[in-house]
Amino acid sequence: MGLVLDAVLEAILPTRCAGCDLPGGLLCDRCANALPRIEHAWACPRCGAPFGYLTCTECWTSEPAFEAGTCAGALGPPLSRAITLYKDSGERRLAPVLGDLLAASLQPWDGWPQAVVAVPASAEAVRRRGFDHTALIAAHVATRLGVPRLDALGCAGARDQRALGRLARAVNVADAFVARPGLVLPPRVLCVDDVMTTGSTLDAAAASLLAAGAERVRVGAIARAW
Ligand SMILES: [Zn+2]
Ligand SMILES: [Zn+2]
Repeated sequence: MGLVLDAVLEAILPTRCAGCDLPGGLLCDRCANALPRIEHAWACPRCGAPFGYLTCTECWTSEPAFEAGTCAGALGPPLSRAITLYKDSGERRLAPVLGDLLAASLQPWDGWPQAVVAVPASAEAVRRRGFDHTALIAAHVATRLGVPRLDALGCAGARDQRALGRLARAVNVADAFVARPGLVLPPRVLCVDDVMTTGSTLDAAAASLLAAGAERVRVGAIARAW
């Protein structure tokens, strides 16, 4: 039934590439090859900002709670379009595509994480989108890495980050996350998000995970924005 329905839907409304909108696959080869990937060897070892291999000014000025961070690519087309389609237009079939991208960028850390935790979405955002888009990505990454995904963090009610400036973002997320009661975390935890901008959200999530018993936290996101 599912297959027939899929075939009918595909005939009426063909799958279009998340990057260029041409009919075919979810992400065509041309767009997959054009993804603005971030080279680890040419990024800040602490937060993954692609401005050179030395620790960036941001990390010098205020040391993040996580010990290292990485992003699959810079937030530009076609990656930005794919993420928007996924989280705001409900194209959930992109979860494994985006999850694979993130998992591939995490390869240098193979064997390091013992659990994957997603940055939690607010109840309002989950209602608006109809699903928890980061949890779905985290689940896919956890499967790829062969470790469990733990539903470890909840939102303490931070406001939407999108309209806030840099300083306001940092203040807004400082107490944004709470660890679930009775949670037992392994020593090494990977925390993931969809987009990393200033890093303040992942920083706050990492701090909550450390406070909840994790010994070391690294972070990863699909895309890095500025
Ligand atoms: Zn394309
Ligand atoms: Zn940095």
